[in-house]
Amino acid sequence: MSIIKSASVIGSVIIASLLMTTACNSQKAGQSAGIKPENLDTTAVPQNDFYQFATGGWQKANPLTGEYSRYGSFDKLAENNREQLKGLIEEIASKPAKKGTVEQKIADLFNLAMDSTKLNKDGYEPIKADLAKISALKDTKELIALLPELMQNGVTPYFHVFVDADPMNSNQYLVQTYQGGIGLGERDYYLENDANTKNIRDKYAAYIVGMFEKEGFTKTDAEKNRDAVMRIETRLAKSAYDNVKLRDPRANYNKMTVTDLQKMVPQIDWNTFFAKFNLKALKDLSVSQKENLVEVGNIIASEPIEAQKAYLQWKLIDASAAYLSDDINQMNFDFYGKVLSGKKQQQPRWKRAVSTVDGSLSEAVGQMYVKKYFPAKSKERMVQLVKNLQTALGERIQGLEWMGDSTKAKAQEKLKTFHIKVGYPDKWRDYTSLDIQKDNYWANIKRANKFESDYMFAKIGKPVDKDEWLMSPQTVNAYYNPSTNEICFPAGILQYPFFDMQADDAFNYGAIGVVIGHEMTHGFDDQGRQFDKDGNLKDWWTREDGEKFNARAKVLSDYFDNIEVAPNVKANGKFTLGENIADHGGLQVSYHALQNVLKTSPLATRDGFTPEQRFFLAYANVWAGNIRPEEILKRTKSDPHSLGKWRVNGALPHIQAWYDAFKVKQTNKMYLAPELRASIW
Ligand SMILES: [Zn+2]
Repeated sequence: MSIIKSASVIGSVIIASLLMTTACNSQKAGQSAGIKPENLDTTAVPQNDFYQFATGGWQKANPLTGEYSRYGSFDKLAENNREQLKGLIEEIASKPAKKGTVEQKIADLFNLAMDSTKLNKDGYEPIKADLAKISALKDTKELIALLPELMQNGVTPYFHVFVDADPMNSNQYLVQTYQGGIGLGERDYYLENDANTKNIRDKYAAYIVGMFEKEGFTKTDAEKNRDAVMRIETRLAKSAYDNVKLRDPRANYNKMTVTDLQKMVPQIDWNTFFAKFNLKALKDLSVSQKENLVEVGNIIASEPIEAQKAYLQWKLIDASAAYLSDDINQMNFDFYGKVLSGKKQQQPRWKRAVSTVDGSLSEAVGQMYVKKYFPAKSKERMVQLVKNLQTALGERIQGLEWMGDSTKAKAQEKLKTFHIKVGYPDKWRDYTSLDIQKDNYWANIKRANKFESDYMFAKIGKPVDKDEWLMSPQTVNAYYNPSTNEICFPAGILQYPFFDMQADDAFNYGAIGVVIGHEMTHGFDDQGRQFDKDGNLKDWWTREDGEKFNARAKVLSDYFDNIEVAPNVKANGKFTLGENIADHGGLQVSYHALQNVLKTSPLATRDGFTPEQRFFLAYANVWAGNIRPEEILKRTKSDPHSLGKWRVNGALPHIQAWYDAFKVKQTNKMYLAPELRASIW
């Protein structure tokens, strides 16, 4: 998983985090301690509330603005990156460019996104033809025939279909389906009946009516459509897996022939369906959530055609809203931004426009970004740092008293074969076949989605490209991908507060070092450990060692289950287990690596903090941030990462080095009895 948020790429099981410092002399003249005193709150007691002590000053100096539901030190870095991208894109957009060049595509897409006069004049005109096309459907056969086109254009009713490495044969690509089709994103919103969830559901229903009316439907029809949408989405939600089950790679792997799929879900003609994705004579695929796809078939067979047309139209209206006129866009924000996340106002237009260009032409933009903003020496230092972390993790594995020798040997092999990516890809994506025209914004979004879809489905039949990047270089994030056994640290994250070329090792190991250790640990968390060094879902553990691992992981899971994140709302220990193990491992491994460095290059106490204390302060600083109550509830349902506060105050009580560094006593609030502490990696 990525360090910050769950992967938006459906299906790829991605993991991330980061860390840094070089093995070279850490006492180099001119290196700073990296810790900014103004970020601290020295009125807090670090042993009682370390998060407040380490980040209280930052929180006070960086209050939430209307456009944010959470704003942390990494969001601040992302804002900085966005300013840089804006400069690059605006320069291109201000000049004429030859048709078909990357410059023309960036310029036309950005200028359309910025052109509020045209957007407001067009209203919902750009989707009218597609709304009419859905209206004209006569039966489910015609409806099913239209599904691939909608999906390719970025409108995804019922379920997703995508291509990724086969978890059981990682050198080959495999078509996979994935549950989806629900506007609220998480099944819990349809099934739970607490006051907050009911309120969100009611407002979603009202949003549906409002949008249908805005796009030319009568109130009566809009209400009828709302009922159909809510009924169909609730059926989809009921048959969907919950977030804990979705984390079990074996429970979500069901490879079968298309012939068997035809028997299991006979309502769809699958050969015809896949042929529209250019997959003629597709033999097999994995149905990730069987029961859910069976229910899709049942819905198609049992729901009246008028109800299903309303549902398809809703998917189109909802998917296009952010790319149409300001009034439509605002209604979309009022629900997803305000109700669901607690934001107060939309981002300014230029930010949204930069994000769209960044998302649609990510590597083209990334190539310009790294050329201008990513120094070669950052990459060198980072590569060295990753090597040091790899050594430290190897030493820790060797020293584990609970793991047997044969499992250790396999773990070492896996660690040695990590595929490491730093900064930017060696070969860049080709955007030749992406067609950007001056017609309208939404039409280009459709073409950009089709371009991505074609790119993905063209992979079938080819060997897995292990050099492909799953994040763009300008991204402030990192990941581990189990099927390629790779860790990736894009250029965008190799900056303060994660990485600071001017700062000493205590800072960099605490910040980017823990991120590197976090991503590495994902290869050995409750999910990642199920994949072998070649990225296949194959058990390489002895039964005894597997049981010991699970018992140790359970300590962490039980501990987080008891954390109250809001009044009467607890964290979900099983859902966040992989990320919590990765934070735990990241801290242990990076601290170990720092100790290795300090043996030959000792660091002095600076600004009143020992190197060990600075390590933990730098770690906490990465998670400095403010968050709205709505966002806390939303993330507790949807984000496999613990909230920033708990990535610090929940993780550190399990780290002996933190007790030593800050002389934590039994009487302190964060003290945890040794028998209650997790100890894994
Ligand atoms: Zn992670």
